[in-house]
Amino acid sequence: MSEPVKTHCPYCALQCGMEIGTGIGPGSGTGLVITPRTDIPANASGALCQKGWTAGELLTNGERLTTPLLHGEPVAWDVALDYVADRVSALRAEHGPDAVAVFGGGGLTNEKAYALGKFARVALGTSQIDYNGRFCMSSAAAASIRAFGMDRGMPFPITDLAEADVVLLAGGNVAETMPPFVRHLSGPRLIVVDPRRTPTAKMAWLHLQPAPGTDLALALGLLHLAVAEDLVDEAYVAARTTGFEEVRTSLASWWPERVERITGVPVHRMRQAARALAAAGNAYVLTGRGAEQHAKGTDTVTAFINLALALGLPGTHGSGYGCVTGQGNGQGGREHGQKADQLPGYRKIDDPAAREHVAGVWGIAAEDIPGPGRSAYELLDALGTPEGPKALLLFGSNPIVSAPGSDRVAARIGALDLLVACDVVMSETAVLADVVFPVTQWAEETGTMTNLEGRVLLRRRAVAPPPGVRSDLDVIAGLAERLGHRFATDPGEVFDELRRAGAGGPADYSGITYERIADETGVFWPCPSPEHPGTPRPFLDSFATPDGRARFVPVQHRPADEEPDDDYPVHLSTGRVLAHYQSGAQTRRIEPLVRAAPEPYIELHPDLAEHLDIAAGDVVRVTSRRGETKAVARISDAIRRDTVFMPFHWEGANRLTNPALDPTSRMPEFKVCAVRVERLS
Ligand code: SF4
Repeated sequence: MSEPVKTHCPYCALQCGMEIGTGIGPGSGTGLVITPRTDIPANASGALCQKGWTAGELLTNGERLTTPLLHGEPVAWDVALDYVADRVSALRAEHGPDAVAVFGGGGLTNEKAYALGKFARVALGTSQIDYNGRFCMSSAAAASIRAFGMDRGMPFPITDLAEADVVLLAGGNVAETMPPFVRHLSGPRLIVVDPRRTPTAKMAWLHLQPAPGTDLALALGLLHLAVAEDLVDEAYVAARTTGFEEVRTSLASWWPERVERITGVPVHRMRQAARALAAAGNAYVLTGRGAEQHAKGTDTVTAFINLALALGLPGTHGSGYGCVTGQGNGQGGREHGQKADQLPGYRKIDDPAAREHVAGVWGIAAEDIPGPGRSAYELLDALGTPEGPKALLLFGSNPIVSAPGSDRVAARIGALDLLVACDVVMSETAVLADVVFPVTQWAEETGTMTNLEGRVLLRRRAVAPPPGVRSDLDVIAGLAERLGHRFATDPGEVFDELRRAGAGGPADYSGITYERIADETGVFWPCPSPEHPGTPRPFLDSFATPDGRARFVPVQHRPADEEPDDDYPVHLSTGRVLAHYQSGAQTRRIEPLVRAAPEPYIELHPDLAEHLDIAAGDVVRVTSRRGETKAVARISDAIRRDTVFMPFHWEGANRLTNPALDPTSRMPEFKVCAVRVERLS
């Protein structure tokens, strides 16, 4: 067996540590042996989920792309790069720089996310760049910035959770999405807020099961109870926050019985949750996509943060609020400039000082950095329209499966003059591309990832990529060169530039080097100098607001954008299953994972199934105002009678979902819409 290489899992934001070697062992059918690392706190227990154990098969998968494709035909790299550069130049000349759009991904390394943002602004001169992380944690990011002045996912080490007495997790199913996380929840009493009795909810001491789209009302009810029962930490509120009186006043109409009518959660259970949180010596409030992926997602997270602030949790040792980020580099992906409204260092793109600093690193004038562009869904929805982009360059994303109301998005993509996809396999979106570039993936390249704790980690190259495959950094640099710009292709060189471009911003990586990450098993940002130890708990002394205090923000519940009616009588909620990851482009090609979860399904309550004359195993048609799909019925009393659930890893579920957007985060309302279900066989 060769010397194993220390690296990290290709999938979720836990970024479990693993070693890759060769010989006999788990995954050795591929010639590669994967073993968990025990030096990375996220999975120091030695755990990996089945996606992690089988990740070696991604590298040797028979469906890997190994040559560029031009209109489906294999061509040389230079031919494909020349073609794209020529078409992009022609479209820019005819329609202006915003005719070309770039769409990134939350799975890209920090280096790629940075290079992509710079490529869009400097080489293409376009404002039209955003990424699929907008569909992931943008509401939590917006709410954290609103309350704390800064968003760093979970602003504390994951190991702190085990020391807590109580953890409230709203809208997260970590037992399926990131199983090793569960080890960190074995100590505290767990309160889970979820419309489904998920595997995580089954572990909970208390499960609050609100109707889909009513988490905000529930959070208001919990805070109302905390105020009414005198559970507020008045000393903390006075010393560390502003705005509580306004929030206290705004809660008046959210008395518990009203909240019970809206959410379906009994008052005594709300009271149990509020009292347990308040009585705990140490407690955390966490949110996941279930609370965040709504047209009111920012306000929903804000309501949970208000609750945490009233109980005196954030910015203290052993307590706090955190967002459980989903995608592998969902955190880092939002820090280095691939978001429509941000520049490297997690700076606002309309901040004059940020523009000046970044322009200096890029060697251009600040006024030449384009202003904020469209958010992810708005960008996709504008493609091919008279006023929208005519070309789309796609990196590490599969919007035909993952975008809400995906039939409409597919039509918009079909109206483009040019679609370019960089991918490892022929995803549902890559199939539609004029040009496909075959790119390297996780263990074939070196780069940094920032996990859900804000810990910057080093993914090392462990194996050589297949012949013919190049890095996304090579694609970016190859196109930039043809457009008259020099871009680095060496990840270390890109990381050094990223550190300079982000210096002084909230996400300051200045003091982080590959060597330090390796020596220290990750470094927490901000880390502004080589001597700085990194910042595991950034809010202990003060918050990142001008006055150092966290801000209470009054918010009000309102109904989902689309409620059930006579035509579409039940709620649809979507989510993930243990065996698959995001759009499934990777995991649906891994044999053990396909065996574990082979097909799309719909989960119905037995009473609803009986009412609709549907039995387990029946094929049903599910229809919303935006489209329809088929799925196999599963009957389970883990779901509410008024709700059905579908996983989103297959094409279909997102044909149904609602692209109504949160006004602040521009997050679509993935988590709730109205559907009709009919038996087909
Ligand atoms: Fe990979 Fe996430 Fe599974 Fe860990 S929990 S092995 S990071 S998919």
